[in-house]
Amino acid sequence: MRALVYTAPHHVELQDIPRRIPVLGESEIAVTAAGICGSDISGFLGHSRRRVPPMVLGHELIGRRQDGKRVVVNPLISCGRCAACLSGAQNLCSTWRLLGMDRTTGCYAEFVSVPETQIYSVPDDLTDARAVMAEPLANIVHLFRIAAPLPFFRMGIVGGGTMGSLALLTALRLGVREVLVQDVSEVRLEVARRLGATLAVNVSTEQGRGDAQGFAGHGLDLVLDASGNTAARQAAFDLCRPGGLVVLLGLSQEHSEIDFVTSIRKEHRVAMSFAYTPVDFERSLALLTAGEIDLSPWTVEMPLEDGQKAFDRMTTAPGDTLKMLLRVN
Ligand SMILES: [Zn+2]
Ligand SMILES: [Zn+2]
Repeated sequence: MRALVYTAPHHVELQDIPRRIPVLGESEIAVTAAGICGSDISGFLGHSRRRVPPMVLGHELIGRRQDGKRVVVNPLISCGRCAACLSGAQNLCSTWRLLGMDRTTGCYAEFVSVPETQIYSVPDDLTDARAVMAEPLANIVHLFRIAAPLPFFRMGIVGGGTMGSLALLTALRLGVREVLVQDVSEVRLEVARRLGATLAVNVSTEQGRGDAQGFAGHGLDLVLDASGNTAARQAAFDLCRPGGLVVLLGLSQEHSEIDFVTSIRKEHRVAMSFAYTPVDFERSLALLTAGEIDLSPWTVEMPLEDGQKAFDRMTTAPGDTLKMLLRVN
């Protein structure tokens, strides 16, 4: 089968690789389209210890099962038997694995085999572009379930990429009172304004940082770091009100130095959000099916054959592209 193989940092190439026979309990999916995620990009750049070449990346997909049904796949595979799984926290499973990570082949390929329990049918009127968002949006559903914001909350979002934008749209569905988005990319801030941010500021300037603090006033109830670099993490704490909640989602840097004494004096609460459970995935899919969350105007599609070009674009000049789709079949 055709597959896009990550062969070395900054390099992917189309190869013909053997098609894996599904084992008992698995179904084979013919992949229609697959999304490029931030974690695939960090793998492509050689920044992920758990994505070592040669391997097939990719975990966001829409495809068809052998019975012809159009389906999406929850790519986070948990054991179903450990204490975490049995308590409903499958994202914390002691042996979780993800398509396109470690030894699990990803979905930048014509076919992928996954446990039957990971597969969800989708209606025909849910477009490929929206269906592929089921996995990224599930992360956002999960973090709001952890954060459980109170009515009329005021929120800050640090980082206006795919995750920040999905968080913005979800916060609006939840009735956020006011929401600030901060980023250093003017095109992304323009997208945030169009999506409904109360204020979108460029924090690469002194003026922008002042505007953000002015908006925050005595601080925001909930602040999300959707970036993962140290400056962004610290910015999330700086925007948070005393007693407010900072949610850390971004994974880009492993270590960060944070001004903890200031945060302790403000009694900041901190939550870290990782991935999603099957319940989050189902809720995400329901939001997309209902058309309540939609980033398709900022989704770009390229054929699997142009994988190198697609990855280069997303790493060097994504502009206002919030999701890149690779068309497989
Ligand atoms: Zn993803
Ligand atoms: Zn488990």
